[in-house]
Amino acid sequence: MKRKSPPAAADDSPDRGTSRRDGDALNTNHSTHHSSRIARHEVKFDELPYDPADRRRISDYIGQTLQDDVRRKYLIRGPFKPQPGFKFPETMIAGHPRRCQPTWFPTYNWLEYSEKVDKCFCFYCYLFRDSHKGQGGNDAFVIDGWDGWNKSERLRDHVGTKCDSFHNTAVK
Ligand SMILES: [Zn+2]
Repeated sequence: MKRKSPPAAADDSPDRGTSRRDGDALNTNHSTHHSSRIARHEVKFDELPYDPADRRRISDYIGQTLQDDVRRKYLIRGPFKPQPGFKFPETMIAGHPRRCQPTWFPTYNWLEYSEKVDKCFCFYCYLFRDSHKGQGGNDAFVIDGWDGWNKSERLRDHVGTKCDSFHNTAVK
């Protein structure tokens, strides 16, 4: 069922400094509109989500300049990794308890981890892959996240793919 919301009332005209707001104006719930694109005035650069599962796609940001600014902010932060001592949850895979290994992070400098969904992602593919659509196919590290903890060769494989060019671009 679709429901169209009425256009927002244009009551933000600066008339004589008395800002009276109707109660309705406080009810706007942004979190329910995750598919909409984001304009610059909506971006709080110091509050960009850290966890890969919480982040918006770079292509959701409107305009090349804004996308570049968001990329720059994330590049300064670097790949998101769990705090030292974080206890990775275990998952039974083929009858064995498996989990994400802390030793992978110093080995693969592009590797990110989402505590929220217990999956790994590629930092550089997140930042740069949007602008290179169609490359790399269905690589788990790019969008859905990777949690095949028993197949760590996938980490090596990811570097050996087209992803290399993004890594190289970004590290320059
Ligand atoms: Zn990558």
